[in-house]
Order: sequence, then structure tokens, then C-alpha cells
Amino acid sequence: MSSPEDRRSTAPAGWHLRGAADALASFGVNPATGLAPDEAACRLKTDGANELRSAPPTPVWRKVLAQFQDPLVYLLLAAIVIAAGAWIAEGAAGAPVDAIVVAAVVLLNAALGLAQEHKAANAAAALRSMTSASSTVLRNLERKVIPSADLVRGDILVLSEGDSVGADARLVAVNQLRISEAPLTGESEPVTKDPRTLGGVVPLGDRRNMVYRGTAVVQGTGRAVVTGTAMDTEVGAIAGLLERTKAEPTPLQKEISGVSRVLGATVIGIAVVVMATIVLVNGVSSIDDLRTVLLLGISLAVAAVPEGLPAILSVVLAVGVQHMARRNAIVKQLHAVETLGSASVIAADKTGTLTRNEMTIRRIITASGQVELTGTGYRPEGDVLVNGREADHPAALYEASLVLTGGAVANDAQLKERDGEWEIQGDPTDAAFLVGARKMGAAAERVRGYERLGELPFTSERKLMSALARNKHVGNLSLVTKGAPDVLLQRCTGLQIGDEVVPFDRVRKDKVLADVEVLAAEGFRTLGVASRLFTEGDLQEPDVLKEADEVSLVFLGVAGIMDPPREEAAAAVAEARRAGIRVVMITGDHPGTALRVANDLGIAQQGDKAATGAELDELGEEGLRLITGSVSVYARVAPHNKLQIVDALQAQGHVVAMTGDGVNDAPALKSADIGIAMGITGTEVTKEAAKMILTDDNFVTIVSAVRQGRVIFANIEKFLRYLLSSNMGEVLTVFLGVVFAGAIGLGGATDENIAVPLLATQILWINLVTDAGPALAMGVDPELGDVMARQPRRITDSIIGLRMWSSIFSIGLVMAAVSLLSIDVFLPGGLVEGNDSLEVARTAGFTTLVFAQLFNAFNSRSETFSAFHRPFANKWLWAAVVVAVALQLAVVEVPVLQQAFGTASMDVLHWGVCVALASAVLWTDEVRKVGCRVIRRRPAVLHAG
Ligand code: ADP
Ligand code: MG
Repeated sequence: MSSPEDRRSTAPAGWHLRGAADALASFGVNPATGLAPDEAACRLKTDGANELRSAPPTPVWRKVLAQFQDPLVYLLLAAIVIAAGAWIAEGAAGAPVDAIVVAAVVLLNAALGLAQEHKAANAAAALRSMTSASSTVLRNLERKVIPSADLVRGDILVLSEGDSVGADARLVAVNQLRISEAPLTGESEPVTKDPRTLGGVVPLGDRRNMVYRGTAVVQGTGRAVVTGTAMDTEVGAIAGLLERTKAEPTPLQKEISGVSRVLGATVIGIAVVVMATIVLVNGVSSIDDLRTVLLLGISLAVAAVPEGLPAILSVVLAVGVQHMARRNAIVKQLHAVETLGSASVIAADKTGTLTRNEMTIRRIITASGQVELTGTGYRPEGDVLVNGREADHPAALYEASLVLTGGAVANDAQLKERDGEWEIQGDPTDAAFLVGARKMGAAAERVRGYERLGELPFTSERKLMSALARNKHVGNLSLVTKGAPDVLLQRCTGLQIGDEVVPFDRVRKDKVLADVEVLAAEGFRTLGVASRLFTEGDLQEPDVLKEADEVSLVFLGVAGIMDPPREEAAAAVAEARRAGIRVVMITGDHPGTALRVANDLGIAQQGDKAATGAELDELGEEGLRLITGSVSVYARVAPHNKLQIVDALQAQGHVVAMTGDGVNDAPALKSADIGIAMGITGTEVTKEAAKMILTDDNFVTIVSAVRQGRVIFANIEKFLRYLLSSNMGEVLTVFLGVVFAGAIGLGGATDENIAVPLLATQILWINLVTDAGPALAMGVDPELGDVMARQPRRITDSIIGLRMWSSIFSIGLVMAAVSLLSIDVFLPGGLVEGNDSLEVARTAGFTTLVFAQLFNAFNSRSETFSAFHRPFANKWLWAAVVVAVALQLAVVEVPVLQQAFGTASMDVLHWGVCVALASAVLWTDEVRKVGCRVIRRRPAVLHAG
């Protein structure tokens, strides 16, 4: 075996010119066994993970530095310079308290920002690892699904439909293998692969004996030996693809950064006005005055700009997404969380999503009668009844056993018993035939007499699959085809009755179609089975099947397969409807089957019609829009019909969530607003195309994800309302305090020339203590009220509407009023007579403002619900509030902090007045909410007017 260095030195591009045997030998691997696990581990260690090198991670010092690259920080740095300058100008007596406090604020802010960024980044990384690509390889004789990052040179790739090729590899064997190489070559038409060695100069798109990383298997199967991984692949060579594309900000993130910017500019404008007002009203006569004014202006700007919003938003989204992942919905793009809450249509596959995908053959209808099979699940035990009785009916039994034999021969599934449990591998529909054949001993016996030679795989377009098999006893060849009866009938010319074959005339075909209708109306998935004998030489190419061979078949009978609906699906459908979301069912099954299941689940009503794929193909854009506006059940669809349905629904302004699993569903998933891939049955290609992956394939999970999405959205509204109204309170307190200084007794009460309602450091303190904690806690608030009782939010609506702005303003006004009132209460003069010092009065105003914001946290949890509705549901919020109260006690009562923040001790009475005044924020908003609820409770009156 060659050393890793030798393997590296082989020209990476030349493998298409060399034989498959050559490639296998150079990588020291036997195509039948694959690599030994320890050899693979060893190669992984020397060659490194199979990952495209993305940009190197940002070093910590850069992340730290980035926290200081912010206009607000520049402002604060300017404040430090001003404070220190004034301190020096005044003789540098004592400690430069203000400068130190502002510097501490800068550092703390940076630390907070770093922590939030870290949290969001970690969550994103965890999600990425959950959705990492995987590949099937042969290791030590066994097929193993491994992360594609673990692929090494010499691995034998086992490719099948829907796989995403994980590395560059030389093909060893193929069966109808077709690969879409669009990501690499731009060519949209899939390439048919062939392992034969090529010669001469062959462009990338024509190297039919190779498969390349990043391309997708659209049909067939194949095996290939990995020749290049990581950067040593064709995609690795394309420089532009290397940098990991930066995550696009979501619409909400964009809106919020926009709002932050506009507010920032406004607030800085206000700060300038405040400073100008002070200067005009009081005049500035000393350096100390100048310092006070400048610091106040800067602090006000810094405190009132909601600079933390984008960071808090990312944390809240990231935490929300982690929460959803624990509930089986993996969101691949944050964007989808927002879109989910706005979804107005969920278009779901029937099989496996709405139903359990546990297929059991219950009934077989043949020319001579009906055979029932009892038993449940995949346990191959059950009775065989003819026409409802355990009677003997040789013809019916014989025909039924032919149906089961055929179905078990044209079959790719495997049935295994493990510890008394029966498990299947492969397609559940196929597995149902294996189980059925075992229940009927004669069929199982006959199946063992066949040797499989070739096959034409099932596709959801064809709705048929065929196998070529040799009868080991007689030696002749049979073609067996199974599939949708309506499709299969067109290829049949004979009908099996007993051991005779009679011509399959119109009357007999109509009888079969009527039987299928009856089965479908009972909710059975129907499959027909047919076969044909070949004599050697009938085939153009030995052992190779073509679609043209699927003709002149003898029809054997129809199997009715039961696939029970998922238990909670009906309730989830009802829940979706309550939330204003239409549920649409899409399936390749018979319209009768689809309608029956849709009726049982509440997706369709009695008398509703299903539209078929063939009908959709006949319609133009206008017709599609009409039909998708009213029809909720789509049957016998091909994958391209899904795209038609998505487009037509979106044209009507719907926000569409659509599920898919097969490789051909990828375009529809990409086109949908929320493409949802199946985690269990879904192919790699659909998982890549999707925005969300259901780890349990369950429809119920979609509806609960919608609910989660709405809850997250509501929580974002909560912390926006909280932060913006609190900031408004700060701005108005300072602004009105300066304007009305005389009226509240601030003007005359002091020998200081300039009387400001709050000191600069106090404003910074409020910003630090009351902002991030409660806001983050609100981001994980549990659901209040019932988010599913509302209509979906229109995706074009901005999150901060007129209503929110008006409540932000009114709450801010109340906050300012009570804060200034508590200053007035304790100061001599003003509206209320008091006899405290300016320090104490200011401390009272400061404390009242902090408490008012904490009370406001409880207001903000709902636009309409009382703050006393489930007040203890959010323990994080209480923790944040308790911490903030403790810090406020400290800043007022601890001497060092008194010095730093210009506060003075207060007695119990003072504290009580502060709390009482601050609580006005709560009471006034309660009154407003009562008003809102009264109006809401009379919608009929409003609509009538
Ligand atoms: P869906 O996934 O929506 O149930 P499918 O495309 O799997 O739809 O199936 C459509 C029809 O194709 C079924 O009603 C059945 O008649 C036929 N069919 C399904 N699976 C197989 C299979 N493995 N082999 C042959 N025919 C099949
Ligand atoms: Mg299917």
C-alpha cells in the first residue's frame, strides 16, 4: 500500500484517464469491502478533514477591538477626555471620578457585547453541525452513513438518488446513474455517468467516469472510489467558492439596525438641543459648567441610543432556534424563524408527513376475488382470508400469491428481525410486499426461486418500478412491474385468471379501475402488479432493462396498502386553521386515497374535489391561481407540479411553507418561502435546498414550529417595546427636566450654576443596569395568551408600527413625569415643597427612573394583557429585576459608589416614595390595556361600523 505522500503526489485531475482498477489499486482499497475503519481514521488524520478551507477564524483580540469600533464608544472616549481634561484644569485634586466611571462603562459594555456575540456564534455553530452533510460509504463490508467531512481518499462511495456527492471520486460501477453538475459546470441537464476510461483531452463536464464534490445524484445508483477530498477537489480549485458566505441579515435584523440608526441620529440631535437649552437658560460660566453640560449631552446620547438592539436580537433569535431544534425543527437560516410566524399556507406531503409511512398490505383484489391479510406493522404474521371468510378459494389465493410474489421481486427493501422486533430498510411501500409475501407462505416460497438481474427504479414521475428476474428452477426470464394501477394498466394486454391469461379488454380494465376506486375511497394506497415472460433474446441488451420493455404485460392484481394517519395530525391541522393557516395536501397517490385521508384529517370537507397533476399541467397561470385558491388536495402529482403550486400560491400573496423529500422536490423547496426537508426520509439534496429540516418528518412539528416562530416574534416585540420606551423615558426626563428646571424647584435650589435633573454618570448607570438584562429575559418569555389565535402577521408589516410608537411615547412621558416629580417632592420650591439637598433629590429622581423602567419590564410583556397575567412565568425576568434592584440599593447606599455616581443615602420613606411614584408606569399602562381589551372584545361592532 502506498504512503499518504504517494497518494498526494498523483495528479488530481488525471483520474478520468486511468482505469477504475488502477484507481482502486493506488488507493489500496477493495471495492467490495471498502476501507478498514482504522485505515480510514489514519488517513483522516494525515490528510485532514474533508472541508473546504473557509476564512481563518477571527482572533479574539480582533473581536475585542471590534467592540470599540462604534461611534457611541468614540463619544464615550471623548467624554473621558473631557472629564479628565476638566479634572486637570481644576488642579487634579482627588481622583478623576467621572473619567474612571465612564471608562468602566466602556469596558463593561464591551464585555457585554462580546458575551452576546459569543452566545449567538455558539448557537449558530451548533446548528451548523446539526445540518452537516453526510455520505454513504463502504467500510469493512458494511454500508455506513458518515459525515462528509470524514471522507478520505480510497473510501468507496455508495451513491443513490438524492445524494449530494461529498468528494471527487472515480466511478467503479453505475446503474442508470445521472448526476446534476450544475453547481460545478453550470450545465442544468443531468449527465449520464459511465465508468469506462476516457482518453485525450476531456473537459470537466464530459468526464463521465468521475463524480465531483458538490454535485447531486438525480437518478440511479453507483459506486466510486474517492480520489480527492477537501481543497484537492474541483470545487476546492474554484477560489470564489472558498470563503464561507457571510450570513445575510434577516429582514427583521435589517429593520432593527435601520431603526437603531434613525433613533441614534435623532437622539444625538436631542442631546445637542438639551445642551443648547442649558447653555441658553443658565449660561455657562466655568470649566466645571462646561464639563457638566458636555458630559450630560454625551451620556444622554449614549444611553438613549438603542445600540444593544442588534446584539440582543441575534441572541434571542439564536436561543429561539436552539429551542426549536430541541423540538425537532432545525432552522437552517435565521430568516425562516421570522417567516414561519407569517406562513399562511402549509403545503405538506401526505405520505410520511401527515401519515406514519408504515405500510401494510391489507387487501389484494384479483380477477377471481378479494383476499384479506390481517396483522399490523411489519411483523410478517397474520391470517389470509378470502372474501371475508377463511374458506379455501384456490384461484383467488393463487392470483393473490402471484401479486405478492411480483411485488416482492420488484423490490429494493429489506426486512430484518432484531431482538424480536421487525425492522425494514428501504422504501416502506416495497417492504409491505415483503411482509405480505411472508404472511402467505406460497408467495415467499416462490420469491426465493428468483434471482434479480436488473431493475428500472421507481421515480415519482413514472410511478412504476420494474425488475428483471431469472427463475432459478426453469431458467427463463421474467419482467415484473409494480406501480400506480392507472399507469400500469396502460402497459397491460393480458389478465391473469387462475393459471390462464385472458385478453385484458375494456370491460375487464373498467372493472379493475372500479376496484381501485373502492380501495382508494377507503383510504388505501393502491398498487398494481403485472409481469411478462421473456425468452432469451427478447432483450436488446442482455440484463439491461429499458422503459420500452415495460409493455404487453399481464396484469396480476391490485394491492391495497394501509398507511395510517399520524395520531396528532388532525389536531395540528385544526390548530393551523385556527391560526389562519391553510393546510394543503400533496401526494403522488390516487385522488380517492388522498381525499379520504384529507377528509379524515380535516384538510378537506365532504364533497371537496382533488386536483391531479395532469390537470395542473393543462392550466395556464391564471387557471393555476384559480384552482390553488380553492383546492386543498393535490393527487397523482409529479415533483414539477409542486413548483407550480408554490408559485401560484405566492402569486396570491401567500407565504408558503412546503415539505419535500425527493431529489426533484429541491426546486419547489427553494422557491417556497419556507422549504422544509424531511430529516429521516429526505435526501441530502433536499436538506441542502431547505430552510428548515424536520428531524421527525412529522407534520405536527411544522405547526409547533410556526407557534415557536410566533412566540419568538412576540418576544422580540416585547423587548423592543421595553427598550425603546425606557430610552424614551431617559431622554424625556433629562429634556423636560432641563426645560422645566425652574418649575420643579431645580433652578433655585442650588448654588451650582447648572442644575441638571440627572448626572451624566447616573444616566450611564441606568443604561447599564436596566437595558440588557430585562431585554434578554424578555427574549425568552414563555407564550402569553395564545399566539395561534391570531391571523398570520403580514410579512410586509414593520414590527414597530404606529401603535407601538404611541405606547413607547406615552410610557416614556409617564416615566419622565414621575422621575421629575420625585425630584420636586424632595426639593424646596417647585410644585411640592420639600427640604432635602439637591444630592438627595437627584438620587430620588434617579432611583425612581430606574424603578419605573423595571416596572415597565412587566408592562412590556404584552400589548394588551395585564402585567398581572402569569406574572411569575418568566424567572429570568425576575432574576434580572432583582439584580437591578440590588445594584440600585448599592449605588445609593455604598459610600464608594455614592462618590462615583453623585448619590446620597435615602431613608425608608424616600425609597417608598420612589417605588410608589415609579409604579405609576405600571398602573397607567394597566388602564390603557383595559381600554384595549374592551375595544377588542367588540369586534362585531367595529366591523359593522
Ligand atoms: P407519495 O410519496 O405522495 O405517497 P409516491 O410518488 O410515493 O407518492 O407514490 C405515488 C404512487 O406510485 C403510489 O400511489 C403507488 O401507486 C406508486 N408507488 C409508490 N411507491 C412505489 C414503489 N416503491 N414501487 C412501485 N410503485 C410505487
Ligand atoms: Mg413516496
